[in-house]
Amino acid sequence: MTVFKLKRVQYMPKELEPGLLYVSEQYEVAGHLCACGCGNKVVTPLGPTEWSFEDTNRGPTLAPSIGSWQLPCKSHYWITRGEVRWAGQWTPDQIERGRRAEEERRREFYEAREEGTPNPLARMWRLSHPLVNPCTIHEFARRDVRGRRTAA
Ligand SMILES: [Zn+2]
Repeated sequence: MTVFKLKRVQYMPKELEPGLLYVSEQYEVAGHLCACGCGNKVVTPLGPTEWSFEDTNRGPTLAPSIGSWQLPCKSHYWITRGEVRWAGQWTPDQIERGRRAEEERRREFYEAREEGTPNPLARMWRLSHPLVNPCTIHEFARRDVRGRRTAA
């Protein structure tokens, strides 16, 4: 069984080790190598409309599921208390529904904020996060890492 252990970091390292879920709470981002073993980096932003992360005594939990539909492996799984549970591959229909659900979550979040509903989570939100799509995020994260290095 594939198992992930939590590794807290400030910045996402360029090279990730398999079996570790890297979490930077400061930059609200988590990263790991795809659970299928293909070696692709999966970077997921953390936030009210993104993934949520929980540190349990048995291991880290990331929710919702990780759907790397743009990777060749098209992996889809949950990481729950450190354990990987496979969800089966995405069908084109599921991909479409997944994308719509993400858009919907975002729309509801922003509408709630515009209505002036006090939402403590809104503070956590960073505009720098692009749409949830592991590949886009992957590109974004690489730029992000490079940007910070230059600035340092
Ligand atoms: Zn994979």
